[in-house]
Amino acid sequence: ITILGIESSCDDTSASILRDGVIFSNIIASQDVHMEYGGVVPELASRAHQKNIIPVVHQAIEKAGIQANEIDAVAFTRGPGLLGSLMVGTSFAKGFALSQNIPLIEVNHLQAHILAHFIDDVNNKYEHPEFPFLALLVSGGNSQIIVVKDYLTMEVIGETIDDAAGEAFDKCAKVMGLPYPGGPIIDSNAKNGNPHAFEFNRPRIAGLNYSFSGLKTSFLYFVRDRIKENPNFIQENRNDLCASLQYTIVEILMNKVKRAVKETGIKQVAIAGGVSANSGLQDALREAEANKNWKVFIPQLGYSLDNGAMVAITGYFKFLKNEFVGQETAPFARMTIK
Ligand code: ATP
Ligand code: FE
Repeated sequence: ITILGIESSCDDTSASILRDGVIFSNIIASQDVHMEYGGVVPELASRAHQKNIIPVVHQAIEKAGIQANEIDAVAFTRGPGLLGSLMVGTSFAKGFALSQNIPLIEVNHLQAHILAHFIDDVNNKYEHPEFPFLALLVSGGNSQIIVVKDYLTMEVIGETIDDAAGEAFDKCAKVMGLPYPGGPIIDSNAKNGNPHAFEFNRPRIAGLNYSFSGLKTSFLYFVRDRIKENPNFIQENRNDLCASLQYTIVEILMNKVKRAVKETGIKQVAIAGGVSANSGLQDALREAEANKNWKVFIPQLGYSLDNGAMVAITGYFKFLKNEFVGQETAPFARMTIK
C-alpha cells in the first residue's frame, strides 16, 4: 500500500510517501517569511502553502522513486491548525484523490504527532512503543498528556488550561528579543547557561493539567524589572536566562508526567510535537528512564516537527480500517483528540 501524506496546518508545507509502513520520502518546505513578524502570519502562511504545495508533492514522489499512479490513497491534515493553511492541503488532497480516483483520508494533526512513533524509514527501523503508553504532546499549540490505547484510540488525561509549552518558549524568546520560533534558540543558548541562575514562579495547578501563561508573565516582569537597573541585562545574561527558563519549563512538564505514570501505572512514555526536540526535556526523560525504570521514546527530529510522514503513517492505519472520507470533507481548525 502506497500513501501520500500532506501536512499544511501551520507554516510548514510537507509531503511524504509511505509504502507498507515505511517512509520513502518526507519533503518539508519551511516558511521564513514569518521570522520578521515574530510569529506566524496566517495570510502569508496560506499564500506560501499555495506556492509550495505542488513542488513539494512532486519532490516527494520523485524522491520516493515512484509514479503518481502508484499511490493508493491520499491522507491530509484536516486540523487543528490555521484554517487558511489547512485549506490549501485539503483542497490539494481532494483534487489529487479525484484526479487519481483514489480514496481520501483525513488526519488529526495531534494524533499524527503521536503516531510518528510508529514510523520506519528506508534507512532505519526504530523501536516502537507498545500499547498502552503515555504520550506527552508538547507543541506550539498543545500541551497534553495522553493515554494511547491503540493507534486510533487515545484519551487525554491532562492538558494546558492556557498557553502551550512551545508558546511559553516562543513568547519568552520574544521578550529576550530572539526571533521566531524561539524554542530551538533558547535550547541552544541554554547549553551555555546556568539553569539555577534565576528562579521564576511555577504554576500551582491540581491534577494532571498544565498552565504556562503565569510563567510567561513572571518572566516578562522579571526581565522588565532587571532592565530598569541595567539596560544591558538581557545581553549580559542571555544564556543564563535561557537555561533557567528551560529548566523551569522542563520541570513543570516532568512533574505532571511523573504523576501520570504514578496514577496510571504505565511506564512507557513517548514525547511528541515540536518541543520534544528540546534537549533539556530529552535529558530529563533519559534520567527518569535510568532512575525510575521508564521506557522513553523520543522521535527523530524530521518526524517531530510538522511533517508529512506522520500524516502518511496515520493515514496508513486509517486505510487498514477503511476510514475514508468523501469530497465533502472540509478543514476543521479546532480539532482535538477525542
Ligand atoms: P500544533 O502541533 O499544536 O498544531 P505546531 O504545529 O505549531 O502546533 P510544532 O511544529 O509541532 O507545533 O512545534 C513547534 C513548536 O516547537 C514551537 O513552539 C517551537 O518553538 C518549539 N520547538 C521546536 N524545537 C524546540 C526546541 N529544541 N526546544 C524548545 N522548543 C522547540
Ligand atoms: Fe504540529
